Amino acid sequence: MKQKKGWIVKLRQFLYTSGAFSYLWITANQRLKPRKQLRFETDVADHCNLNCKSCHHFSSVADQNFVKTEVFEKDFERLSQLAGRNNENIDIMGGEPLLHPEISKLAEIARKYFDGPINIVTNGILLEKMNDVFWESCRKNNIRIIVSSYPIKLNVKQIKELAKKHKVTLKIRSIFMSKNSWCKLPLDLSGKQSLKENSKLCITINKCIFLKNGRLSTCCLPLVADRFNNYFETKGFCKNLEVTDDDSIDIYKAKNIDEIYEFLSKPMPFCRYCRIKSWEIGIEWGVSKKEITEWI
Ligand code: SF4
Ligand code: SF4
Repeated sequence: MKQKKGWIVKLRQFLYTSGAFSYLWITANQRLKPRKQLRFETDVADHCNLNCKSCHHFSSVADQNFVKTEVFEKDFERLSQLAGRNNENIDIMGGEPLLHPEISKLAEIARKYFDGPINIVTNGILLEKMNDVFWESCRKNNIRIIVSSYPIKLNVKQIKELAKKHKVTLKIRSIFMSKNSWCKLPLDLSGKQSLKENSKLCITINKCIFLKNGRLSTCCLPLVADRFNNYFETKGFCKNLEVTDDDSIDIYKAKNIDEIYEFLSKPMPFCRYCRIKSWEIGIEWGVSKKEITEWI
């Protein structure tokens, strides 16, 4: 029976990936065009209170670390100066963003510099415990709360009531995520994957643009790789994910936003680590055991 289930998962995965890859290949030129409007994500907490296996932000092996409010504000101000206030989308995430002791203040700062959609993307675990200051900040600053889907128990009724009471827009991605809807992007630590092929098949490139400490990258991976490197170095692994300045762009050195959009529309050296064609989709979700096999 178990063998049959494994076969079905593999078939489902094959059908999904072959369809998705064909679509991604055909639409690659469109996705790799320089953007016309700013969108980005940023982690305000490196660590998480759920610690999923294979976490794409390496939060399950990250040390506790919060973004400094001054750094967050300086970067948002600079990006607003470069790109204007009319953003396409901004996701404040992590790790778990609600762990940040000043999340209400961060929401206020984000809105100070941008007029477009701003979301706090959370696993939802802490939502019931958030105080009125938090809810009021979300309401006043028109910050939407997005609850990502994980196969965990949340008091959805209570969360919906809280959002309604405080007039905050809430989006729950799915409360019915099954245990077998998890995915993993395996890494090739030897870095021998093709940049060209990866960029054409990658769904996140030029879309999940990531901001950290004054730098933007076309996806989060190079800017969160230190979490992976630091943890596995202490466990004796010598093959690190090498990150260079060519993997991201300094928003203070860039002359204008077009230079940034041009940079983000191209694959970066770090893309050589992704085994995009081996995406594992429909695998079982679980809490991380902090083993390197969860990422390779
Ligand atoms: S909840 Fe999200 S950020 Fe936290 S460990 Fe899971 S995947 Fe990573
Ligand atoms: S590193 Fe490159 S190939 Fe890998 S997920 Fe990011 S953008 Fe895609």
